[in-house]
Amino acid sequence: MTAKRLPYFEERSEPIAERIATGLHKLGLAMKQQAWLRANEEGLSATQGQILAVLVMDGALSGKELGERLGVTLPTISDSVRALVDKQLVTKSPDPRHPRASLVKPTKKGRALGARARAWPEFMAGAVAELSPAEQSAFYAGVVKMIRALQEQGLVPVSGMCVTCAYFRPHVRAGGSPHHCAFVDAPLAAAQLRLDCPEHALASDGARQTLREQLAQPG
Ligand code: SF4
Repeated sequence: MTAKRLPYFEERSEPIAERIATGLHKLGLAMKQQAWLRANEEGLSATQGQILAVLVMDGALSGKELGERLGVTLPTISDSVRALVDKQLVTKSPDPRHPRASLVKPTKKGRALGARARAWPEFMAGAVAELSPAEQSAFYAGVVKMIRALQEQGLVPVSGMCVTCAYFRPHVRAGGSPHHCAFVDAPLAAAQLRLDCPEHALASDGARQTLREQLAQPG
């Protein structure tokens, strides 16, 4: 019998954008579950682990800065920091920049835990390794673009990304490394764009718009 060749899935499939969103949701759940499990093993909450991971990367920060980095409210940060102080994983000292604020700093034990917490998302690297180099490059370019769009909507903390950085110079030369970082004065390939650079300096609204337009143009 001849197989029916109706466009069955064409009629029944959601648009690819929706399917990508569903896939990202599943990846997000896996990340969340792993973070929760690893944090539990270390006797921390996931937020406490994320705070330590950020402090290892960025050094001493105020509660407000921690909230901005993690996209978490100040009361949640305050509760988590209090718990970390009790566990002797961070200390608080006056912030010389703001007389009424405190600086949160990791202790030696907190730094060691923070370094381990930074590795929590690494389980995902095994799945990413299943992609070919070309698929990884395309995926990374898509991830960078999506995060930037969400940042501009205020849905993801604005920090660390080349594409919103005052030092970023897109498409300044031909070849495999068309972009440039003016901070270290070095060329950058698309696959080397950073998502969590400690030297990131947020460009002004107008400059970010210009960067977006420059990046959208073919190199
Ligand atoms: S300072 Fe960091 S975020 Fe800014 S362009 Fe250079 S590498 Fe990218």
